Amino acid sequence: MSDQATATNVDPAEIAKFSALANRWWDPNGPQAPLHVLNPARLGYVAQRFALRGARVLDVGCGGGLLSEALAREGAKVTAIDLSKELIDIARLHLLDVRQQEPGLSVDYRLCAIEALAEAEPASFDAITCMEMLEHVPDPQSILQACSRLLKPGGVLFLSTLNRTPAAFALAIVGAEYIANLLPKGTHDYRQFIRPAELARGLREAGFSVDDVSGLHYDPIRRSARVAAGTSVNYLCAARLTA
Ligand code: SAH
Repeated sequence: MSDQATATNVDPAEIAKFSALANRWWDPNGPQAPLHVLNPARLGYVAQRFALRGARVLDVGCGGGLLSEALAREGAKVTAIDLSKELIDIARLHLLDVRQQEPGLSVDYRLCAIEALAEAEPASFDAITCMEMLEHVPDPQSILQACSRLLKPGGVLFLSTLNRTPAAFALAIVGAEYIANLLPKGTHDYRQFIRPAELARGLREAGFSVDDVSGLHYDPIRRSARVAAGTSVNYLCAARLTA
């Protein structure tokens, strides 16, 4: 199984950027504060559409494990992968800490590329989550193809990413990185943002049918997030494997 050294669909500068945040990943007031706020809303989106209890779920680009742990707490059997060693280490350490209160909680964290996992364990997951990650990889389509290989027939894929619109540029880059200092400068590259129609096309090419696309709205003042209509900035997508 390959890690960052042998994986090809990865931008090492992106991994280094996220690795540098590892120590403060779980600080709700730290540099990943927006992910903490988004987490309950995106978990709710998944749980509403998919029966998590007992299901085998893969969390791709899991970072420090915010969503992976939350999915496990809902009863899913979670495998979670990332190419940042620092983040996988932090995710494991955090889980160890949490297990003092919740001894049954478990997540199988692995430092590996999704393409390698697809090679090793095809058709083995009931659902896959891949949140806030596609906009950071050189070839997002390769990720969708690997998800297609990893899911069992009828499996469900949940994605979230940023739309390529002036509103997303204004809020997610200028607002969040330069005005409000919500995210470290350079977190996002506008050219990597993905329009919902492009994502839908990529999903169809990878054998999925799109069940839903919804907006994921982040309110920095109230420090809250909700799923609602309007996909011009951040959005969620649920797709089902048909092929
Ligand atoms: N999904 C998590 C973290 C999002 S941050 C959450 O929403 O809470 C983006 C994550 O993608 C980082 O952890 C980064 O290390 C990871 N990442 C970037 N490129 C990757 C790749 N090619 N393969 C796996 N993980 C990748």
